[in-house]
Amino acid sequence: MSVKNEKGGISVETENIFPIIKRWLYSDKEIFLREIVSNASDAVTKLRRLISLGHYEPVDEDLIITVTLDKENGTITVSDNGIGMSDEELKKYIGQIALSGALDFIEKYEGEGSEAGAGIIGHFGLGFYSSFMVSDSVEIRTKSYAGSPAVHWVCTDSGEYEISAGDREERGTDVIMHISEDGKEFLDAGKLREILDKYCAFMPVAIYFKDVAEPEKERECTCGHKDGDEEECTCDLGPKPINDTHPLWLKNPSDCTDEEYKEFYGKVFKDFREPLFQIHINADYPLNFKGILYFPRISSEFDSLEGQVKLFYNQVFVADNIKEIIPEYLLMLKGVFDCPELPLNVSRSYLQNSGYVTKISQHITKKVADKLNGMFNTDREAFEKLWDDLKIFVEYGCIRDRKFYDRVKDSVLLPLTGDSGYKTVDEYLEAAKEKHENTVYYTADESAHAAYIAMYRARDIEVVRFDKFIDTQFINMLESDRNIKFFRVDAGIADALKADGEAYENEKLADLMKTVSGSDKLTVKFENLADDATPALLTLDEQSRRFDDMMKMYRMHKGEEAASLPVASTLTLNSASPLIRKLGETLDEKVARQIWTLALISQRQLTSDELVRFLSDSYELLGKL
Ligand code: ADP
Repeated sequence: MSVKNEKGGISVETENIFPIIKRWLYSDKEIFLREIVSNASDAVTKLRRLISLGHYEPVDEDLIITVTLDKENGTITVSDNGIGMSDEELKKYIGQIALSGALDFIEKYEGEGSEAGAGIIGHFGLGFYSSFMVSDSVEIRTKSYAGSPAVHWVCTDSGEYEISAGDREERGTDVIMHISEDGKEFLDAGKLREILDKYCAFMPVAIYFKDVAEPEKERECTCGHKDGDEEECTCDLGPKPINDTHPLWLKNPSDCTDEEYKEFYGKVFKDFREPLFQIHINADYPLNFKGILYFPRISSEFDSLEGQVKLFYNQVFVADNIKEIIPEYLLMLKGVFDCPELPLNVSRSYLQNSGYVTKISQHITKKVADKLNGMFNTDREAFEKLWDDLKIFVEYGCIRDRKFYDRVKDSVLLPLTGDSGYKTVDEYLEAAKEKHENTVYYTADESAHAAYIAMYRARDIEVVRFDKFIDTQFINMLESDRNIKFFRVDAGIADALKADGEAYENEKLADLMKTVSGSDKLTVKFENLADDATPALLTLDEQSRRFDDMMKMYRMHKGEEAASLPVASTLTLNSASPLIRKLGETLDEKVARQIWTLALISQRQLTSDELVRFLSDSYELLGKL
């Protein structure tokens, strides 16, 4: 049997496919290397399978892939010693694009605008033909494991190919890409290494990188062997593969150590901070996917939104952060998922509506919730220590995904001010039952609200620390889910802070306070407070303040200056305070303004005019001592 010299054209049912490939794939050219190396990896995997099934004799040599850069000759070559191809197979598999399903794909997306198409193809590849994005011509030298003669195939980017007898002696395939002007940037060792690290770091076959221009570096011997020693050096001084063929996610979770998880995290995410903990998912049939999800240390509210979830398909990197597969809020975390069952050659809208994808997503959500609940139930103390780092993620997850909320709601903690630790919503409400049923008091700024908080704590009422933007949304969600109200400590005078006793009203004093405040919107009222040392408190109605906060945030997002809007505010004068009683008699304007300003300080910073006047009033009053 010999290979007939033959010429042909890549067989496709429509117009020439190459211009289409080039146009569609333009934005994501680098994936050509992933595609060609994946084919090589598949060829080796197939051979391994034939060997393990006893259809082929075990081989002595290592089964490997070599990527060779030859800048001088303008080529990039991917070689493997896998199953190879006969001339029939070459014609069938490489000569007819329609077989690989690419044609249907392109026809389907031709009308959708290049951006949508490029994204999809970029993610999922077009196989062998993506090599033409960067090549003027591509050569294949191959010899099948089955013993048929070697074949040589050359194809230019016009789609014309020639087949002839080849000279490859060993089983396997070389794909030699003659790089075009368009692909020149890839004739660079650094660039190729970067792409291999991105897409091929965990492929199942060892990959070696060779730069013809660089002599191969020998690694140093570490076994202490010297020249002339009788024993041979035991170190492996040969070149090292660039990839890890057994990524940690494939291992059984019970065989992985904490150290291994941390090392893997540092290597994959280049994050020098250790993760908090991880969830190793090993889902069996029918979902059949594996992955490790890490909870990173979160240093600020904004920082945390920058997670990274890498999706792999049989150990080949596909893309980061594919929202169609991973629930959006999990993208705050860092992780890897390998989903060999994913129908990757389909459209994004299919992914969004696919039952399989929904199930993956639900499975991950469940595992995350189980882990959080497990930690809460088994080691509450450790869980509390982690809570400040977990909080934003959990709250965001609850807001975005009702199912997640339902699963974790009993493990959600409320951080308390001072050194009071953490309580669940139920624990807080249980403790509050006698004094303030179904009401949670909170502060958005522990130091600014110190005076208010002190009054609550003096009455044994715990105050929750809710000081992040996301807390406001979380509060709204909890309120709508169950019968609870959240009040900021400065939202009004809680009944628990009031004392019985004779009511005191003084209209003149109320008018005077209004005048010194300079605001005709201010409401002034009298209340008997349990704490007689505080003469006056300024409170802002909860609902109008929340609305105001929202407007401010909205304007900030739009880059407008946040002017302070009037919020319904009330000045409560403490009837129990001797100072107020006295002021009721003297109606001294300076003292009145002083009391107003002291109440105002706990709400906001003074303007420069207010501060100057406050200082001069204070000095004058001190002078009277
Ligand atoms: P796909 O990999 O999606 O099937 P490709 O166009 O990349 O599409 O490849 C088509 C076929 O060519 C492969 O399925 C395989 O049978 C064959 N092939 C490609 N590269 C190799 C290789 N290095 N060794 C053996 N067969 C190969």
